Amino acid sequence: MKDRIALVTGGSRGIGRAICLALATRGAKVVACARSGGALEELAAEVRKLELAGEIDPRVLDVTDRAAIDPFVNAVIEDHDRIDILVNNAGITNDGVMASMTDDQFDDVLTTNLRSVFWLTRAVCPTMVWRRWGRIVNIGSISGLMGLPGQANYSASKAGLIGLTKALAKELGKRKITCNVLAPGFITTDMISALPDDLKASLKQTIPLGRFGEVEEVAEAAAFLASEEASYITGQVLTIDGGLHT
Ligand code: NDP
Repeated sequence: MKDRIALVTGGSRGIGRAICLALATRGAKVVACARSGGALEELAAEVRKLELAGEIDPRVLDVTDRAAIDPFVNAVIEDHDRIDILVNNAGITNDGVMASMTDDQFDDVLTTNLRSVFWLTRAVCPTMVWRRWGRIVNIGSISGLMGLPGQANYSASKAGLIGLTKALAKELGKRKITCNVLAPGFITTDMISALPDDLKASLKQTIPLGRFGEVEEVAEAAAFLASEEASYITGQVLTIDGGLHT
């Protein structure tokens, strides 16, 4: 991935951070964004310390800030000439049963997990179209495939992401731009460690591989979908869930 410019949202921790490291390991120059500038700076320092082939350019962005998106993308392109790889990873949960879910609770999750992906991808696409090369990797969830109780907002956002991805794959295929979804199951991150221990134990019993996944296991798949070698894969949903949703 030497000479590739990647933009990864939610790069400050969890799956996004691991994806930044996987891309930098392969030589990409990675613009890592999130709201926490300090954590991004630490990631950039770690990549320098590890002497990876690539590098991290840390930049603060709140993906729900509609007005900030276009200027942010324009600034990245001005500084790096282009964006070859876009990984839409930033995401949140705000669970609750449907009966008591507020409009704000629904809208916040839809805005972070889906609307922001539309805004960012629309802003990034022209540079990929111009160069006739691009890789878009959207981080979905098995919740968007199978639906999970207490996650009407989250499941809807991740299901919507699949529709968006499939439509874009058809729109952009002729320009040699691929667009795919990675749908993780339960992966060990802050998002999952917030669950009660007894729930975590019972969830593991439902997973054929008997454990939660590690962030690196998702990051490796993301790096593959972002690679030259994945050139004939588009419009697909790849689940990484230990066999939970089969
Ligand atoms: P974490 O909560 O560990 O990290 C979320 C990341 O998103 C952070 O870097 C956070 O940075 C960033 N983020 C959140 N909101 C915003 C925002 N408004 N603007 C910019 N960045 C934001 O989550 P995970 O690593 O677990 O999840 C990453 C993705 O994987 C999400 O899309 C999630 O839905 C998906 N996923 C996770 C699963 C899991 O088991 N962990 C399972 C299935 C899917 P900051 O707070 O600094 O802004």
